[in-house]
Amino acid sequence: MDRLIVLGTGAAHALHHYNTCFMLQGPEGSLLVDGGGGNGILVQLDKAGISLLDLTDIFVTHEHIDHSLGIIWLVRMVSSLFLQEKRNDILRIHCHTRLSEKLRSICQFTLSEKQFAPVGTSIRFVPVKDGEQRSIAGHTVTFFNTHSRKAEQYGFHMESQDGQRIVCTGDEPCQPVCGHYLESADWLFHEAFCTDADTDVFRPHLIGHGTVKEAALLARKHHVRNIVLWHTEDRTPSPLRRERYGEEARSVFRGGVYIPDDLDIINLHGTPL
Ligand SMILES: [Zn+2]
Repeated sequence: MDRLIVLGTGAAHALHHYNTCFMLQGPEGSLLVDGGGGNGILVQLDKAGISLLDLTDIFVTHEHIDHSLGIIWLVRMVSSLFLQEKRNDILRIHCHTRLSEKLRSICQFTLSEKQFAPVGTSIRFVPVKDGEQRSIAGHTVTFFNTHSRKAEQYGFHMESQDGQRIVCTGDEPCQPVCGHYLESADWLFHEAFCTDADTDVFRPHLIGHGTVKEAALLARKHHVRNIVLWHTEDRTPSPLRRERYGEEARSVFRGGVYIPDDLDIINLHGTPL
């Protein structure tokens, strides 16, 4: 993949940022990961200049509303494109089996019969299993169960044709059992609810999240080259968040540290865009 388009960086309760979701874009296509919590996904895609006509593959990590409900809006809008014959290809929504059943049910209960009609034909939920490999946009993607204790959640490991490796561990700290996916990765996309210094303020561990320092130490342990940290509290305003989070991460990790804002674009090959 050539670039990472950051559509949202906030955790579930964020008010000033959209919920964490992003698109990986390359010459052979793209992969959208999660949809955030509502029709704000349509706004973010519009602002990022991404057309719904180009949306071919979506991966949904887990069922929580800050990740899944935007997907229902995308199904609704892409369905209209199929009905208006503006699209005639297939939209694939990759996610674990139980989530595919839940998303399909929500679509069935909330969309009109007409809007729901393309589900199963033009719009397909494609269940993934732990360790399953799939070719998406010219890249080999391995999906893995993150062993979340809150809700069944999957992450992925993507290997591009040029050998670059990208890992996303969803919205919780990576469990040791999944550590091997991270080893020497070029890019690790990881959650960081707040800085370690603010642990007493936000108490991230009580809600299944972790700190910037913990994520950076994990990246160091597994010889990761670059980390992208998001899914954060947003009481800390953006410029300050980048500064404080970045400083804490760099105090323990020597690789590339990225604390993006909504709608930032990161060049995954490391040269300026
Ligand atoms: Zn979340």
